[in-house]
Amino acid sequence: MPQTQDTLICPHCGQQLQAFEMPEASGWDDRVQWACFNNDCSYYREGWDWMWNQYEVKVSYRYRVVDPDSGQASPLAVWSDSALLDCIVKKT
Ligand SMILES: [Zn+2]
Repeated sequence: MPQTQDTLICPHCGQQLQAFEMPEASGWDDRVQWACFNNDCSYYREGWDWMWNQYEVKVSYRYRVVDPDSGQASPLAVWSDSALLDCIVKKT
């Protein structure tokens, strides 16, 4: 069965991905994308250490799917626990 956007799951923590809308200036054609906003996600937690060790920057990344049809994923860089939380599309 092909995945639908409602069943996109983070492979790192098992949580459902949440739809969010990229800010207009980001240059993506498709502004709605899906990411894991779980602050306890191992992918996100380990990202802080990894980025600091590699680049000495206080940045991490969240698991993100840019194309729900193919499941294509691309890390989403974030600078704090609350970064982009206000971009999450609220379910009505
Ligand atoms: Zn996760």
